[in-house]
Amino acid sequence: MKRDFSAGAFPRPRLVVSRCLGFDACRYDGSIIPDPFVAALREFVEFIPVCPEVELGLGAPRPPVRLVRVGGEARLLQPATGRDLTEAMRAFAASFLDGLPPVDGFLLKNRSPSCGIKDAKVYAAPEKAPAVGTGPGLFGGAVQARFPDLPVEDEGRLTNRAIREHFFTVIFALARLRETVDSGQMGALVDFHARNKFLLLAYNQARMRELGRIVANLQRRPVREVMAEYVAGFRAALARPPRRPAVVNVLMHALGYISEGLNPAEKGYFLDLLAAYREGRQPLSTPIGVLRAWLLRFGEPYLSAQTFFSPFPEALVSLRDSGREER
Ligand code: SF4
Repeated sequence: MKRDFSAGAFPRPRLVVSRCLGFDACRYDGSIIPDPFVAALREFVEFIPVCPEVELGLGAPRPPVRLVRVGGEARLLQPATGRDLTEAMRAFAASFLDGLPPVDGFLLKNRSPSCGIKDAKVYAAPEKAPAVGTGPGLFGGAVQARFPDLPVEDEGRLTNRAIREHFFTVIFALARLRETVDSGQMGALVDFHARNKFLLLAYNQARMRELGRIVANLQRRPVREVMAEYVAGFRAALARPPRRPAVVNVLMHALGYISEGLNPAEKGYFLDLLAAYREGRQPLSTPIGVLRAWLLRFGEPYLSAQTFFSPFPEALVSLRDSGREER
């Protein structure tokens, strides 16, 4: 069986995104931020853009807002008008997040007092005061509190290849799982688990075994119950990026399936690539790319079906850290 590595073979993750990242000129100064990663994702992702500040009726352009530490908590103030928007933003975030359809993650604007996920400046006073720390913006913080088991990233962090590959891997895996659950078919879940074995092995071996027990369903529990438990366990398994030694083990395991067909020079080349990946000199996509070529050559059916070897569309693999495509 040959694996279909084309874009049509991928589910479409549903992501909430900060509207100013290429969708609308809604920043406080009336500008828009053309983001290359968001632009590249558009073909493959269903975006739900939102600008929490515009949703509060602040307009664009508008006097800027900032986080100010008041009595031990960060409050969202608009110094030019003296308005305290904290409660309004909390209320908007709660109703917006409650009203969302099932989503696979969030991609938010970094450093924003509203959308930031960890690096928004917090000031000592509304005006002419130094920053006393950093933290999540009010909306970004609400997202993380409401969806602690979904991937939440900011566009600044996506310039790091390892963070980006992990984020893309997880959103496409969760989209595929969402489709599987929507089917309501136990057989589809069994198939999903089988196709994600290598991915789970790389991310979290203990969780992989636990998920195997859930999907075996020896107690013959209702499908809906089994799926809910599986979703929670799968999200937890992918919560943190995989450790390089675990990934190397998986790649060695995969090599074992096809090594008979390789000559010593090919094996040596691959082992060198693995060493470079283990030492952080190569991204994961490099050894995986070589293995994929061999999968196409040998057509090994079990390996070819593994999502680990093609976790997200090829056009996203070839993005450089600048966001441009490699040529
Ligand atoms: S960072 Fe968030 S609140 Fe600010 S302009 Fe962008 S979407 Fe709107």
